[in-house]
Amino acid sequence: MAAREQDRDPRTSVLWFRRDLRLSDHPALLAAAAEGSVLPLFVIDPALWKPSGDVRRAYLLRSLRALDASLDGNLVVEAGDPAQVVDDVAARVGARRVHVSADAGPYGRRRDDAVATALAGHDRELVRTGTPYAIGPGTILNGSGKPFQVFTPFSRAWNEHGWPAPAADPGDVDWVHDGAGVDGSHWPAEPDLGDLELPEAGEDAAFARWHDFLDGALADYDGERNRPDHDGTSQLSHALKWGELHPRTLLAALRAKRSVGAETYRTELCWREFYADVLWNRPESAREYYRPQLAAMNYEPVGESFTAWAEGRTGFPVVDAGMRQLRSVGWVHNRVRMIVASFLVKDLHVDWRSGAREFMHWLRDGDLASNNHGWQWVAGSGTDASPFFRIFNPITQGQKFDPDGSYVRRWVPELGHLAGKSAHTPWDAPGGYDHGYPERIVDHAHERQVALEDYARVKG
Ligand code: FAD
Repeated sequence: MAAREQDRDPRTSVLWFRRDLRLSDHPALLAAAAEGSVLPLFVIDPALWKPSGDVRRAYLLRSLRALDASLDGNLVVEAGDPAQVVDDVAARVGARRVHVSADAGPYGRRRDDAVATALAGHDRELVRTGTPYAIGPGTILNGSGKPFQVFTPFSRAWNEHGWPAPAADPGDVDWVHDGAGVDGSHWPAEPDLGDLELPEAGEDAAFARWHDFLDGALADYDGERNRPDHDGTSQLSHALKWGELHPRTLLAALRAKRSVGAETYRTELCWREFYADVLWNRPESAREYYRPQLAAMNYEPVGESFTAWAEGRTGFPVVDAGMRQLRSVGWVHNRVRMIVASFLVKDLHVDWRSGAREFMHWLRDGDLASNNHGWQWVAGSGTDASPFFRIFNPITQGQKFDPDGSYVRRWVPELGHLAGKSAHTPWDAPGGYDHGYPERIVDHAHERQVALEDYARVKG
């Protein structure tokens, strides 16, 4: 039975976990532990839970189980509107302060303001310490005191600004045992993912993957990161999304490496920071065109061709391989994300927002800032966008970045009988369609022309 408020340790505070599902390098945890005993809380917020796909829901639940294990089974999981739930939990344990890592997204900022107001109504405080980024979004400004709109000067300023060292180890934290743990009534059932495979969740698994990468593939990362047929990238985007690892930890380890691979990896982390900064400064850009002119392009309604794209049945091998990889493991290589996104927008003429929604449904690393600005970059409508006329050719891109066709054969079994590069051009291979692979649904050269003419109209 929960103790009455007056019986509780007056130094107890609540640590409300959100996108920081770890114990190391955690400034908000240190701030909470410095006050006394700590009640660890996670709130299943319907506003975030409902629009998430099953992949991210399942991953989150597994990550929470791992977190709970590292908290000796003391994680309290509640469900409901955080403005109500967090205040109730704080009241239940007599906490005057609720500690969080600040959220930088548009919804998270609004939600936290509402929670802070609810807490203040009962003389309690929401204390924000740190963010999921090396440098908090909104911090880096140009010489005129304005946010950057282009990546390269942002990255220069980001590097010059520097970031703090990882936070100290929290030592033995006095976790409050509240008895409302993860197996309580608020713990949702894990969705059935069928054959979809997820990597092991949790801080320990993320660290293991990071150390393997650091001691292995990082050395060749600069050259290998564009090869979807190789395991040349860190595959840590889901761990960064949920905060199982903090980028500060990664940046500190990279400093010791001093290689081209380490330098390139730091730049990739900076893209994540840049998009979070853009979203901080222009929250509406999560849903709307950053460059509004491009919203006037002639877009096709979502129909059969969209479904063929989403299910990996376009007849373009690398596009289909990417979309099938998405549905098989909830992750796609960055090069292939660009190829499939370009195909949807510029070959099928579908509004990037439909593609971004489909990605968010399936991705285990689905992140509003990186996803929607990644899409806007490809669509030519975002900050620092790739020029619209640079249209990815889905055939030559496949041949260049998957030179012996093994990525395509791995994800598209109907092309498994085609040797080497010929997997990218079944129309030229004898028996190329013998195993049921579909014909191309569009003519790339023609659709490219259509896109460019429409762009000229909008630009004019
Ligand atoms: P690595 O190559 O190992 O890179 C290390 C880390 O750097 C990544 O984990 C990621 O956090 C960051 N990073 C790398 N490239 C980018 C980038 N272009 N933009 C932002 N961060 C980057 N990334 C997401 O985390 N979530 C998304 O929802 C997402 N959607 C995308 C949608 C599109 C259309 C495109 C083109 C890119 C998207 N990305 C997204 C960025 C990138 O594809 C993934 O971060 C990357 O593929 C993750 O694999 P990795 O961890 O092996 O990357």
